[in-house]
Amino acid sequence: MSDYIKSLMDGVKAKNPSEPEFHQAVEEVVESLSLVLERHPEYRKAKILERIVEPERVVMFRVPWVDDQGNFQINRGFRIEMNSAIGPYKGGLRFHPSVNLGILKFLAFEQVFKNSLTTLPMGGGKGGSDFDPKGKSDNEVMRFCQSFMTELQRHIGQFTDVPAGDIGVGGREIGFLFGQYKRIRNEFTGVLTGKGLNWGGSLIRPEATGYGSVYFAAEMLATRGETFEGKTCLVSGSGNVAQYTVEKINELGGKVVTLSDSSGYIYDPTGINAEKLAFVMELKNARRGRIKEYADAFSGVTYTPVDPSLDHNPLWDHKADCAFPSATQNEINAKDAQNLLNNGVYLISEGANMPTTLEGVNLFLQEKILYGPAKAANAGGVAVSGLEMSQNSIRLSWSREEVDQHLQRIMKSIHKTCVDTAERFDTPGNYVNGANIGGFLKVADSMMDQGLV
Ligand code: NDP
Repeated sequence: MSDYIKSLMDGVKAKNPSEPEFHQAVEEVVESLSLVLERHPEYRKAKILERIVEPERVVMFRVPWVDDQGNFQINRGFRIEMNSAIGPYKGGLRFHPSVNLGILKFLAFEQVFKNSLTTLPMGGGKGGSDFDPKGKSDNEVMRFCQSFMTELQRHIGQFTDVPAGDIGVGGREIGFLFGQYKRIRNEFTGVLTGKGLNWGGSLIRPEATGYGSVYFAAEMLATRGETFEGKTCLVSGSGNVAQYTVEKINELGGKVVTLSDSSGYIYDPTGINAEKLAFVMELKNARRGRIKEYADAFSGVTYTPVDPSLDHNPLWDHKADCAFPSATQNEINAKDAQNLLNNGVYLISEGANMPTTLEGVNLFLQEKILYGPAKAANAGGVAVSGLEMSQNSIRLSWSREEVDQHLQRIMKSIHKTCVDTAERFDTPGNYVNGANIGGFLKVADSMMDQGLV
């Protein structure tokens, strides 16, 4: 690490104490960027890095709501407007009890580079709340969403900031949020993405992140002349991203043997075929049940509950070729990374945001496996959100095939940017440098053009 990068990181840590996830996300990016600063001293002079780590705006607010028993409940809401150099702020909302300022800042920071990679004009943002939708009735979720939007609506807009879903925010929540925005502002605009098909949503948006992560993996495999045919895959999570990752892997001839939720994971050596995936979708999206039920419904399946005393996640300790972490941040630590390598895994495509710790990432890079970092591999979701914004603006809806073709084209383009940029900066095959630098250059040049703002 150069002296400049070290002093930048010291400053970030001192100014943003108790935000370890934000420090981690910044450190991973600025390490790649030291290669750029050697060739472009003008960025350093213009303090691009110092500016890019500072959100343009942070909004934090109280979200009061009433539960079904008539009790008053208070949660905290956030919106981080990180960078608008290349377009309106864009990024999801997360509802999860673990949500805090540092987690949302890490997500907003990553989003800036990811959105830049998609080729679409979108800045970076992220938001959410420490509200836990688990175990809440539909009416409670609605009252919470209405209260959340009553405050958020004054900060967002189709040309300013366009939120979407993330963990705990799916079609149901986007519907309640959109309804309240429309009611207060008296306008029907594309202020949120992930909307229902009848009211401005895009085909393929629910599928986009999972499909995109598999398309990205297929591109990585193609660099070695391989396809998904016959590959065994580990997938974590069982939400939106995980479900459509499984669907696309099956379609391309691979076999998925694991899924998880925050209570535990299932291992199904015969593979999660279309019929079993339909069961998971019904279980998770309609009944909102736990993944353990999969093991009760199908034979030959092992369920392993989470054991907090373990220093690793046993899901990553099975023989396989490819892994698709699709649950949450830091779900692969150094021990998990080593287990994956020991079990023959040579491709990782990150559906979740920052699922691998810095130590884990370094192991993957050392071993020169096909490692697709989140910024690149899971950009398909926000890319189709961008396409939803385009369709809203021209007041037309594209067919499933059209949107899917755009998605495939964008994932190929992101892959090419990563490969070409990594080569240009003398680290061939390093998708981390490729994604970080590729995403950074467009944003940095736009910031230079727009002066000191
Ligand atoms: P969902 O809420 O649909 O699903 C999340 C899944 O991950 C659930 O199975 C959940 O289990 C599990 N999970 C969440 N938190 C934890 C935790 N702390 N420990 C263990 N398991 C956990 O979210 P998504 O599928 O949308 O998001 C998954 C990941 O993908 C996130 O990192 C998100 O940021 C990222 N992502 C999502 C995009 C999208 O378009 N939706 C776009 C780009 C990235 P449980 O139900 O028990 O909580």
